[in-house]
Amino acid sequence: MTYKTFQQWMILLVVLCFGGALSEARAEPAKPLIYYQQESENTSLQQLIDSPLQNWQTIPENEAVSFGYTPEAYWFRVQVDENEADRMLYLGYPLLDSIDVYFVKSGEVLKQLHMGDQLPFNERPVHNKNFVVPVPTHNAHDIYIRVRTESSLRFPLEIWEPLEFMEANQYQVAATGLYFGLLLCMAIYNLFNFLVTRDISFLNYSAYTLSIGLLMAGLDGVGYQYLWPNWIWLQDRIVTMIGSIMIMFATLVTMGVLQTKVHSATIHRWLRRFMMVYATTFVLSIFLPYALLIPFVLILAVVGCGFLLGSGIVLWRRGLIYARIYTLALSALLAAICVNALGYLGLFESVFVQRYAIMAASAFEVLLLSWALAIRFNDGRKEQLALKEQMNHQLEDMVSERTEELERVMVRLQKANQELEQRSNEDGLTGLYNRRFLNQEFKREFRRCRRNGTSLTLAMLDIDHFKALNDSYGHLLGDQILIDLANLLKRNLRRASDTLYRYGGEEFTLLLPDTDEVGARDLAVKLAQLVREHPFDTDHGPMHITVSIGVAVAAAGVYDQPTQLLAAADEALYRAKAAGRDQIRVIAERERSVSTSTE
Ligand code: GH3
Ligand code: MG
Ligand code: MG
Repeated sequence: MTYKTFQQWMILLVVLCFGGALSEARAEPAKPLIYYQQESENTSLQQLIDSPLQNWQTIPENEAVSFGYTPEAYWFRVQVDENEADRMLYLGYPLLDSIDVYFVKSGEVLKQLHMGDQLPFNERPVHNKNFVVPVPTHNAHDIYIRVRTESSLRFPLEIWEPLEFMEANQYQVAATGLYFGLLLCMAIYNLFNFLVTRDISFLNYSAYTLSIGLLMAGLDGVGYQYLWPNWIWLQDRIVTMIGSIMIMFATLVTMGVLQTKVHSATIHRWLRRFMMVYATTFVLSIFLPYALLIPFVLILAVVGCGFLLGSGIVLWRRGLIYARIYTLALSALLAAICVNALGYLGLFESVFVQRYAIMAASAFEVLLLSWALAIRFNDGRKEQLALKEQMNHQLEDMVSERTEELERVMVRLQKANQELEQRSNEDGLTGLYNRRFLNQEFKREFRRCRRNGTSLTLAMLDIDHFKALNDSYGHLLGDQILIDLANLLKRNLRRASDTLYRYGGEEFTLLLPDTDEVGARDLAVKLAQLVREHPFDTDHGPMHITVSIGVAVAAAGVYDQPTQLLAAADEALYRAKAAGRDQIRVIAERERSVSTSTE
């Protein structure tokens, strides 16, 4: 509902309610002069009939009977002139407990009637929410009325022409019908809202609206007339019972509209405490009589409403938009309740305005609260959507962050893997490729040469008498020589495809693809000479060593397995050693004969 249509509805409602009120006011009842006396212990009807008028007091003209809350019974005396038309005696308050009416002429009781909401509704002479009694025709007489009630003894006492009464009553019925119709609509509508949204605030609101409706129906008399006409027990307790329930739901609705749980923990806690008290009064109202409980319920309602209003104001000042609407709604109702209270205390005259004010205000409050609830619900939905979007963004950010991180880790892992692989192929001391890698490369190279039909050469190189060197100068010096030798050999390989490996200990292997016997021999001779002449830089000064080299040369297809070439190179080395060291031996492929070479 937009603000504008809402406003239009409010204006229409107010016009209808007060329009009804004004229309009713147009048809004026006859206001008889009312005499009254308080009943004492030994008052009897006969005594009253006999007592002269000066023993009675009068109620000022145009004023309603108004004695507030009193357990005492009062007697009223009204004089009716002889008249052509029928008339109606009207007591305009539905909660009067017990009413005895006596029509007396010349000291003789012509007719008597007993009414009150302590009797079943159907026993009333006229079925009206208030008390209406037809006055017998064509008789000048006195009417004696005894009224006793535990609710407020305050009612207009009037004599009406039946036609005018009917007219005036029509407006009243229409206005109250509109009021209860509105409440019922809002209750059902918000029940549907609850069923669709599952937001418990709507259900609380619906229950609140229903309880206001029931309470007002009780106060207005239509409840007893239409809803529970013969249920005296309920009629007797309706105000205390439904009053407790109503303020309980009002508190729940307040919690929902103001979102006290979110906005103020203190207010929320107090509202919950109040709820407990209301629940207790509800239970008590089932067992305790109305008169005993009503003062507590009234005080509770005043304190509770005051607290609700205070909560609204506090949260309004904190900038909560629904709190403003809520406070406005509640203020209207409280203002009407004040008018009502002033009326019951006898400080406000019009019984009529008093009754309609509370109806109009509660209708106004119900509509306004529904509006606040709708705004609150919508805002909540928007907030949720925004939150969802924000969470989506956060999730996206997180995912991309994680992905980047993962990518970085992957790159690092790749690098580490590469490094690890390299390390696993490397010899720790000399930095040359190790035997593991030789095995792998050698197989690959062997297959390649066989495929291409080229020859493959493998040379094994072993330091002579290295153990003696180690034993004399220590392993550290041996290591220095191994490193130096590795560098020396590596530096002097000409072809990029020639690869040097540390086979193990002081043995080195040279893999020489596409190298024939002559080429291999030349290289071996050159390397052996280089080593022989190279002064190895050690802690004990420059040192000299020699190496023995075994070379195996194989043309494509000679060997089936790479190990055979390796065995041949090994054998050549063994022969070089056997020949006295610092020698080169070559085993060539074709004749598999040994061709020896010394320098
Ligand atoms: P030959 O002339 O018969 O080759 O005699 P050799 O002493 O060199 O041969 P042998 O195989 O008996 O001894 C090899 C020695 O090499 C044994 C060990 O002390 C030494 N050695 C093996 N690996 C290393 C190493 O990594 N560092 C050092 N410092 N010495 C090593
Ligand atoms: Mg050796
Ligand atoms: Mg050796």
